[in-house]
Amino acid sequence: MEHPENNPEYAGLTVNSGVGPVTSVNPHLNRSRFVRRHLSANDYVEGILKGNITILGQAVTLVESTIPEHQVVAQEVIEKCLPHSGNSVRIGISGVPGAGKSTSIDEFGIHVLKQYGGRLAVLAIDPSSERTKGSILGDKTRMEKLSVHPDSFIRPSPSAGSLGGVARKTRETIILCEAAGFDKIFVETVGVGQSETACHSMVDFFLLIQLAGTGDELQGIKRGIMEMADGIIINKCDGNNVDKCQLAATHFRNALQLFPLPESGWAPQVLTYSGFYGYGIKEVWDMIYSYFDFVKKSGYFDYRRAEQAKYWMYESINEQLMGNFYHNPTIADMLHAAEQGVLNGERTSFVAAKQLLDSYFALLH
Ligand code: GDP
Repeated sequence: MEHPENNPEYAGLTVNSGVGPVTSVNPHLNRSRFVRRHLSANDYVEGILKGNITILGQAVTLVESTIPEHQVVAQEVIEKCLPHSGNSVRIGISGVPGAGKSTSIDEFGIHVLKQYGGRLAVLAIDPSSERTKGSILGDKTRMEKLSVHPDSFIRPSPSAGSLGGVARKTRETIILCEAAGFDKIFVETVGVGQSETACHSMVDFFLLIQLAGTGDELQGIKRGIMEMADGIIINKCDGNNVDKCQLAATHFRNALQLFPLPESGWAPQVLTYSGFYGYGIKEVWDMIYSYFDFVKKSGYFDYRRAEQAKYWMYESINEQLMGNFYHNPTIADMLHAAEQGVLNGERTSFVAAKQLLDSYFALLH
């Protein structure tokens, strides 16, 4: 029977037979036009270097793919784009959910494109699978003006995975975007955990968005995160929130004075603004661009990028070594028993780790 639902046992439920082929579809239509052409690494590179956003998007999808064949092509594309990358300013933007990141990035993006021209890519790092509070980083619908701007490219965070993996993909995407002529890169990240450190390790300027609270807002923010910030901006400085924001700014300035001057020699500044009403946005960007002038003159800009490249080399080694170890079938088989041994107190963690590593190294010979 065509529809089992029409069986007597499902009395009361009937399913109509479906609609036949539609005759109105033009039989001469060339359907192959709608099938995505299989691109080679060189096709991707050529498209990217021409600034073709569709091809850039497809290449980023390839970078994000976990399929090994995709990764091979992706790595070739990245390598070929590398000599054309680097000519940009990269700005990390962090803040807790609700701090106003998307609202601000929308306004910031429009401001920098108007003031400085060029092209802007907005990327994100969000290793958490939990997409609650409507806060999807790099979500186009939350950046209404920028998403329809012809000189912008917005890409949400690579989907959940290890922080190292997500961050590496974002970093590789930066390279592709720069090769495609994007000379301004925003990397959005949520200010609740380790992702700031990853973001900091790939940007030239790290901007922290804060809110004025009840006067003790400094308690909630980790010292390490404040030390990373090249600028702290207090959002929602509008309506009857202005006094509170200015007070919060004073608290932050006082707190920052207790820290030693960062390696860049630039004393981080604290400003108030309103992303929603557009107050103080010019001042925020004047500050960020004066930082760039300062560090480009001093040589710190290039130094930081070189240090970051070194950091990513080690990250990459660590990631690949770990992947190779854990994905080794023999090791994978041994891991469970070793874990149980440690849990039962039969083996110490050091002994178990040593046995596993010894077996792994023996397998390599
Ligand atoms: P995100 O989670 O950090 O991306 O924050 P959103 O940009 O989504 O903003 C969270 C909420 O704060 C939204 O309801 C915004 O309308 C509001 N908001 C953002 N910026 C401002 C601002 O400058 N002033 C005021 N009053 N509200 C704002």
